[in-house]
Amino acid sequence: MSQTVLILLGAPGAGKGTQATRLAESRRLPHISTGDLFRLNLTQGTELGKQASKFMDQGRLVPDSLVIDMLFDRVSQDDCSSGYLLDGFPRTVAQAEALQERLGGGEALVVIDLQVPDHLIVERIVGRLSCPECGAIFHTSFNPPVKPGTCDSCQAALTQRADDTAEVVQTRLSAYYEQTAPVADFYRQSCGVCVVDGTNLPDEVFKACQECVTEAAA
Ligand SMILES: [Zn+2]
Repeated sequence: MSQTVLILLGAPGAGKGTQATRLAESRRLPHISTGDLFRLNLTQGTELGKQASKFMDQGRLVPDSLVIDMLFDRVSQDDCSSGYLLDGFPRTVAQAEALQERLGGGEALVVIDLQVPDHLIVERIVGRLSCPECGAIFHTSFNPPVKPGTCDSCQAALTQRADDTAEVVQTRLSAYYEQTAPVADFYRQSCGVCVVDGTNLPDEVFKACQECVTEAAA
C-alpha cells in the first residue's frame, strides 16, 4: 500500500492546528510537527538531537538537512507505514525541495492550502480570550462568554495573551508571506495544491479538507 503524505499550509491563525489534529485522527495518520521532532530527539538524547542542540545552544537555526534527517528517522517507524501528516513543515521552499528529494515518489502527496484573508485572521486572534484557570478559549465576537470577561466553566477572569495584538499578528503574517507562501507556489507547480476556504465553520472546513484527501487518493 502506498503512503499518503499530507501537508497542511496556511497562515498563522488560519486554523491549521485544529484541522491538522482532526485530519490526522480521521485518517489515522501520525501528526508530525517539527517542534515534536526536536523535543523527541532532545529528550531521548539521540545523535540527531545532540547535533541539533549544538546549533540551538549557539542560537543558530537548525539546518534543513538535519530537520529532514529527524523527519525521515521518525517516518521510517511502523506507525507511518500508511502515511503521515506534516504540520508546520515545509516552512520554506528550500525545505520543500529537500523534502522532495528524500521522498521516494511512490507516495500520494496531498497539499492543502488553508486560505483566510488577513483581516479575518487579525479579527480572530485579537478578539481571543482565554481562561488562566481551566484553559477554556472564548472570542469577544465569535464565541463570547455568557458574562463578559468571565469564564463560563469556572468563573475566573478571562485574559488576553500579550502577543495577540494586531501589530504582532501582522508581523507574523508578513513573515509567513515572505517565507512560507512561496511553498504553496512550489507545490502548485509540482503536484498541485488543494485550496480550502478557511473562513467557513470548522466543520465545513474539515469536510473540504477531507475531500482534498479523498480526491488525491482516488
Ligand atoms: Zn475557566
